[in-house]
Amino acid sequence: MDMSKMDKLVSLCKRRGFIFQSSEIYGGLNGFWDYGPLGVELKRNIKEAWWRDMVQAHDDIGVLPGAPSPFEMVGLDCSIIMHPQVWKCSGHYDLFHDFKVECNESKKRYRYDQVWGRWVEAKGQRIFVAVAAPGEEGTKETEQKALKFFNLRAKNVEELKWEGDLACLTAVKDFAPVLGPDAKSLGTLGEPREFNLMMKTIIGALGGEEDAAFLRPETAQGIFCNYKNVVDSSRVKIPFGIGQVGKSFRNEITPRNFTFRSREFEQMEIEFFCKPATSPDWYKFWRDRRYQWYLNLGLAQERLRLRDHHKEELSHYSCGTADIEYAFPFLAAGDFGELEGIAHRGDFDLRSHQEGKLVRQGDNLVVEQGPDGKPKYKGSGKDLSYFEEATKERFISHVIEPSAGADRATLAFLCEAYCEEEVKGDQRVVLKLHPRLAPYKAAIFPLVNKDGMPDIAQKVYRDLKKSFNVFYDDSGAVGRRYRRMDEAGTPYCLTIDGQTLQDQTVTIRDRDTLVQERVAIAELEAVIRARVQG
Ligand code: ATP
Repeated sequence: MDMSKMDKLVSLCKRRGFIFQSSEIYGGLNGFWDYGPLGVELKRNIKEAWWRDMVQAHDDIGVLPGAPSPFEMVGLDCSIIMHPQVWKCSGHYDLFHDFKVECNESKKRYRYDQVWGRWVEAKGQRIFVAVAAPGEEGTKETEQKALKFFNLRAKNVEELKWEGDLACLTAVKDFAPVLGPDAKSLGTLGEPREFNLMMKTIIGALGGEEDAAFLRPETAQGIFCNYKNVVDSSRVKIPFGIGQVGKSFRNEITPRNFTFRSREFEQMEIEFFCKPATSPDWYKFWRDRRYQWYLNLGLAQERLRLRDHHKEELSHYSCGTADIEYAFPFLAAGDFGELEGIAHRGDFDLRSHQEGKLVRQGDNLVVEQGPDGKPKYKGSGKDLSYFEEATKERFISHVIEPSAGADRATLAFLCEAYCEEEVKGDQRVVLKLHPRLAPYKAAIFPLVNKDGMPDIAQKVYRDLKKSFNVFYDDSGAVGRRYRRMDEAGTPYCLTIDGQTLQDQTVTIRDRDTLVQERVAIAELEAVIRARVQG
């Protein structure tokens, strides 16, 4: 899919009511999105598929294929704003930042590691031509900017002597010869500066700086803080996992690529607690299981990859992290964007909330000291260890964290599903969404609005509506109604026609194969159920 198809998908999302820009009537707000009538159904179906497959429906008693042992799963729904000490002990207060560079000419800010460019020489001058977060067109963009800067015509393009491919600004030592992404003159980018990504808010009417709190940048910390509550109240035994779906907020410097990088987004996170000795096996289990989940719901293997982080990429506490990545169409060919991270977090989180913020010292994690020799950030002081009855062992459990983004998953499923094809000489746009994810499972059409067809169609609609989200449409030619449902990703269209009046059957048309079969009205519910769950 090329960029123009991405534009088409964005426009389809707006036209059909999947995704709108937030506050659009006021010009929009960068990094915030709203889900329309179809989008909210799609995203809910994704979250519900996750909840069902990960939290509710796995077998607590038997052993899942690939799992080291049986395990339990429970859910949680925590507050968005938590005690500020949570973020000090978790490390977010000190460490959760990106670097930004600011352009004093355009007044724009860029994420330091997302500015890329190329060295070029012309008319005796050597400069670095930068562009912000380039996609496939990055090389072309630098060429156009360089022509403009050197005041050259396109036919004189060979006067530009390029050195190497696109390189990140982080590799450039001196910004004096840098032509910023939106600048006309050189050397307008300032020094990179740290920028904490947590969104601040104030609690209470009289609140001052000491009442500052943060909107959570991840849902995970609510799980760690409730770990003991869950163990004490639900009788779960290690190994077990806690799942949570909820909003998170990050003050991203450059939100971009549609919903991919937003400032408000939803996460679907699991914290899985296990014995230290078995944690490498559980890490592998979750990595593979999460990868398979996206495949099962329709992402193509050639666009989905599981990438193990290199040792240098690992967080200071992690013994292993893998990302599940998708080849989003807005990225350059061969590039992948993160859908989900699966991290082996050891005992870092529970110990941090018990003892205080930890730092690595050699091979150990120790409590970070302030200048006065006391813990820099005090932990809760609560005992977060676990006592295993069977073995009489006490330990702090290790944690495996599969952390997914509901919005990125929604975007990936939309990108994968978008398809333009020719049907009998006609061009059609169709979203080939997995039936489990499709906003409507079926649409019901009376062929014509007479001969009692609408009555039967409305009864079919009302009966099916008890089980599925279905849509009723009696306006326009049936072909047009099919096209509308193709764009909405509806897998089945049921048409009540002349034959229905005689034999109580309807046609069921398959969105992808276009095959039409006749099915008895009495069997519709079972037929659709079987297909939707398949
Ligand atoms: P990135 O490197 O892309 O910023 P990250 O590694 O910081 O992502 P995590 O902290 O691992 O992301 O968050 C887990 C998941 O939450 C990500 O895999 C992604 O699906 C989702 N996510 C994170 N940041 C955003 C965002 N700004 N907009 C939408 N989804 C996000």
